[in-house]
Amino acid sequence: MYGKIKEHLQKKLQSIREAGLYKNERLIISPQDAVIRLSTGKEALNFCANNYLGLSNHPALIQAATEALQSHGYGMSSVRFICGTTDLHKTLEQKIADFFGTEDTILYAACFDANGGIFEPLFTEEDAIISDSLNHASIIDGVRLCKAKRFRYNNADMQDLEAQLILAKDARFKIIVTDGVFSMDGNVAPLDQINILAKKYDALIMVDECHSAGVVGDTGRGVTELFNIRGEVDIITGTLGKAFGGALGGFTTGRKEVIELLRQRSRPYLFSNSLPPAVVNAGIKMFAMMAETSELQDKLHQNTRYFMSEMLAAGFDIKPSKSAICAVMLYDAKLSQDFAARLLDEGIFVIGFYYPVVAQGQARIRVQLSAAHTHAHLEKAVAAFTKVGKSLAIIK
Ligand SMILES: *Cc1c(COP(=O)(O)O)cnc(C)c1O
Repeated sequence: MYGKIKEHLQKKLQSIREAGLYKNERLIISPQDAVIRLSTGKEALNFCANNYLGLSNHPALIQAATEALQSHGYGMSSVRFICGTTDLHKTLEQKIADFFGTEDTILYAACFDANGGIFEPLFTEEDAIISDSLNHASIIDGVRLCKAKRFRYNNADMQDLEAQLILAKDARFKIIVTDGVFSMDGNVAPLDQINILAKKYDALIMVDECHSAGVVGDTGRGVTELFNIRGEVDIITGTLGKAFGGALGGFTTGRKEVIELLRQRSRPYLFSNSLPPAVVNAGIKMFAMMAETSELQDKLHQNTRYFMSEMLAAGFDIKPSKSAICAVMLYDAKLSQDFAARLLDEGIFVIGFYYPVVAQGQARIRVQLSAAHTHAHLEKAVAAFTKVGKSLAIIK
């Protein structure tokens, strides 16, 4: 009987609307790219996609996907361990391990699944998971599915991490878990210091590289490259849904025994469908491109530096960032929404974020740079920010 819950759901939806927290989805009718077309017919410069390397609509990946559709068909109709593993899946797993300098890789349908399926097979109530307070929702959910004791430290706060490691000292195994780049501020986890503490307190390290893989480090190998500790992190999770082409797919890469056990016991891997060959082959092509050249990273880093320095020069309050995320601080929730709406009128597509997505009184516009942005795109964005910033009296 749907009757009673229907009214309950309607009330709940109404309260979400009244709180101003209702998420409306804008319709895009073009491919994902630096320039997108909205269903209103309007074109906009896109500064809110995770399309960091501009690969979402890249001809070489479209071709690789098309070739695999022809050679390996459309769907796998199976989980990996029954009949869902092709030569392509094994090649992609190897390419990911080569990229990160790790021993082995396991693919998932998404990084949400990689994070959801990592803890429960490895840890029990005898163990401790020590997690950054700003870690992604999928890590939080993954930790909940596991019986290990939970410890939380304030974002990137190494004193607090050490305090939590001391509290967790009696655990059989300990693991420190952190995002590589935190998506709302664009700050990087201080992995050099985390590594020192992990050694001191005999803890493993897991890094979620979703926003850092392909982006951070001179050649885009992520935070382990930035801190020069490639191969030292035990577990890395990541996505093919951001810098790496933007379609879908997640992975866990790291120590070989860990990966081997995940193939036996990780529930999202065992009980969810295998990635389609088209996506897998585009992934293989993408990693081949990464192995050849880091020109996309060079372009992205150049774009990011330029945008940030121009925004600072214009007088905006922006968070220090080592990623391709630039948080333009406005503090006031309504202001962030007005600002974003006016930018869209100027042809710049960005999103204003406010509580509870970020802390109370910390509303902002998050700008995401891409290697697909041209210099003219960046100039247009800075000019639009400056125009709107002046008209709203944010800058002089
Ligand atoms: C995007 C993201 C995920 C989820 O990745 P999907 O492959 O889209 O499921 C997990 N962790 C972090 C830190 C992310 O930013």
